[in-house]
Amino acid sequence: MTNKFPYAEDVVDCIDNGVFVVDKNFKVHLWNDFMSIHSRFSADQIIGLKLFECFPELPQKWFERKVKSIYLLKNQSYTSWEQRPYLFKFPHGRSVTGGVEHMYQNCCFTPIFDLDNNVECVCVTIKNVTDLAIKAKQLKDAVVQLEHISSIDGLTQLYNRAHWEQRFKTEVERVKRYKSKVSLIMFDMDHFKKINDQYGHLAGDKVLKQTAERCLNLFRSVDVIGRYGGEEFCIFLPETDITNTGLVAEKLRHIIADTPVNFKSKEIFISASIGFTCSSEKENNYETLIKEADDALYIAKNNGRNQCINFLDSTSDD
Ligand code: GH3
Ligand code: MG
Ligand code: MG
Repeated sequence: MTNKFPYAEDVVDCIDNGVFVVDKNFKVHLWNDFMSIHSRFSADQIIGLKLFECFPELPQKWFERKVKSIYLLKNQSYTSWEQRPYLFKFPHGRSVTGGVEHMYQNCCFTPIFDLDNNVECVCVTIKNVTDLAIKAKQLKDAVVQLEHISSIDGLTQLYNRAHWEQRFKTEVERVKRYKSKVSLIMFDMDHFKKINDQYGHLAGDKVLKQTAERCLNLFRSVDVIGRYGGEEFCIFLPETDITNTGLVAEKLRHIIADTPVNFKSKEIFISASIGFTCSSEKENNYETLIKEADDALYIAKNNGRNQCINFLDSTSDD
């Protein structure tokens, strides 16, 4: 098999990109040094052979479709590493891997025309974009991490108010759309100022952390817990009716009040006042539900604290 492009070969050997040429039968006509260095085939070995015989692991159907479309449309075509990370699984050759196992590649398919302006061959260029892919991956990871950090309360590791509110708003929209239900529990630690005053601010912090942990242990993974304010927490419970919400609220009250928090070998007895409500068919509004749970919490405080109040019961006698 004679080489169709003897001069071009010298030029393309200098390029730090992969360059090879195939015809419509996928026979290789040109194979530059980059391709020889990164693959197990030199130009002498591969020119004249069919590409897929030498590289059976190539995505044959995809490659065939791509080449056929070049013959048909006579236009250049491009694929980015984001669509297909690589065509040839070459090692990336980096001493520091950056968390990637192979070379990421952008590929360009260019028609080569004969004198009658028909496509005679297709030139494929392979650009090593591993550095770019690593940077993009690191950026994506950093964004995910930032999103996480910005949604979490630093002390308790629960969702912060802004994130929790966003989630609750979305949930209320879902409830409206699908005519389902959601319950809401809000609680506030009792006489928390006294705990800070008596045992110190660090003790208060430990109480808040322990309370958060107890909540995480009690609630289901579908329930969404947030730190609403200083010593005030809120939980929404998707697909939960008022009766079951009452049961879990009572459990919550117990796990807070029954076990003191240990701080520097002292036992700190704590309690919380709890208000809860459930979406109803007549009015499922984010602000209304918050107000209902808050009103019930206020009643629990006024009634002497360390108790659960069901907003729907508190208004049923009116
Ligand atoms: P009540 O039973 O009526 O709720 O009384 P309270 O003392 O708990 O009520 P109040 O809302 O007046 O006090 C809340 C206190 O919580 C005041 C504030 O200093 C404290 N607090 C808020 N955030 C934190 C925190 O992150 N750490 C600590 N240690 N204390 C906090
Ligand atoms: Mg309080
Ligand atoms: Mg408070």
